[in-house]
Amino acid sequence: MKIICIGRNYVDHAKELNNPVPENPVFFLKPDTALLRRNRPFYHPEFSDDIHYECELVVKINKLGKNIQKKFAHTYYNEIGIGIDFTARDLQSKAKAKGLPWEIAKAFDASAPLSMEFIKKDEFADLNNISFRLDKNGETVQNGNSADMLFGFDELITYLSKFLTLKTGDLIFTGTPAGVGPIQIGDKLEAYIGDRLLLKCNIK
Ligand code: ZN
Repeated sequence: MKIICIGRNYVDHAKELNNPVPENPVFFLKPDTALLRRNRPFYHPEFSDDIHYECELVVKINKLGKNIQKKFAHTYYNEIGIGIDFTARDLQSKAKAKGLPWEIAKAFDASAPLSMEFIKKDEFADLNNISFRLDKNGETVQNGNSADMLFGFDELITYLSKFLTLKTGDLIFTGTPAGVGPIQIGDKLEAYIGDRLLLKCNIK
């Protein structure tokens, strides 16, 4: 199982980090050891002083595929969940400045909290209008909608499958909207799709 993450998929987030808006999806991988399930707490590691939350809709791949045509892309997923792409922003900034890979800042253990529950595709009235949000300590810090993705679910699957064979159980973190920010020990994060609380993560 692999976790594929999309960077800069919301214009307002690309701008807040002074990144250009990409022509094609930007992607990177996290290993399976990055998954944090069952609402377990996240233990803040010592190697970073600036870990940011990035709340993202997550697509779960349901069959094997390579070079998937866009018209068939929707048949490669049944469910959508929500996750957090924890990012060591200080390490990422150093890596970016040196033109080095991002894994050090993105792929660490427990850097991908994931909702236990996924929502079936047909429960959504419109996949291009899925609202989601992240609350920190009871206050909303990120508000997103799939309508604002530069590259939608089907486009992402089509593009990624040119390079990577997608397999059952693979997860695609589809990018974060504006509002990313740092976490501190003691913070309580809660992620919602619509009004449904699907993921909790306490920082310890
Ligand atoms: Zn992200």
